Amino acid sequence: MEVHGVHKSFGGRRVLDGVSLTVAPGTVTVVLGRSGSGKSTLLRVLNHLEKPEAGHVSVGGELIGVQRHGGRLKERKDGAILAQRSRIGFVFQNFNLFPHLTLLDNVAAAPVATGRLPRAQALARARELLERVGLGDRTGAYPRQLSGGQQQRVAIARALALRPGVILFDEPTSALDPELVGEVLSVIKDLATGGTTLVIVTHEIGFAREVADEVVFLHEGRIVEQGPPAQVLDRPAHPRTREFLSKVL
Ligand code: ATP
Ligand code: MG
Repeated sequence: MEVHGVHKSFGGRRVLDGVSLTVAPGTVTVVLGRSGSGKSTLLRVLNHLEKPEAGHVSVGGELIGVQRHGGRLKERKDGAILAQRSRIGFVFQNFNLFPHLTLLDNVAAAPVATGRLPRAQALARARELLERVGLGDRTGAYPRQLSGGQQQRVAIARALALRPGVILFDEPTSALDPELVGEVLSVIKDLATGGTTLVIVTHEIGFAREVADEVVFLHEGRIVEQGPPAQVLDRPAHPRTREFLSKVL
């Protein structure tokens, strides 16, 4: 995934100020930065949930949300954007499961709705995925019957259902009670070692040190520091990174 010179403003306020980033296939990138630094906006731009005013994002050489038209970039049609988005999974802070569907149907919903799999196959795959996140015995339950950690594991299974090449996580454990954080991080860790490309916004520094290939520190909409965890987390060069780490550690 390539992010090239992305700018994004809201109401004249610059939130992303020329962000460029390369995420190699199969690697894990952790994005850090204090509240308001633009982390969620960056993830949303990656999936074209937000349209950047300048710059672009591409995955496997294909522009996301736009296409070249003459010398300019032109918005793709909605259907094409949805198809691209289905190849980039998104896991939110607040799980966002469908409350009226069982776990099995939550996970099978997208492959069926997009016509990717016939219903029987989608259900079989959903069952496998729920097993993979440790919920194989709860497939008929509804989200409200689960703990936050369990719900977040369902959300991860749901993101995997479309076999995305890239999965984006926006503070996947920040809404969880501390004792439930570990079970979700361990599922994400399995994905990381399994070779899925992951971009993760998190304040879990220990986790970042363990799984990240690359750590990116965002400050006021710019990447001010970037590198392997041993560099950015243990020997940060930028004063803003140092200040941030001294507060979260
Ligand atoms: P946090 O750690 O609190 O989640 P963040 O780094 O994810 O913060 P963003 O959510 O990207 O930060 O927001 C960056 C800035 O952009 C904030 O000042 C926020 O108020 C503003 N912003 C984000 N989305 C919108 C929007 N849709 N409309 C207006 N302003 C927005
Ligand atoms: Mg955020």
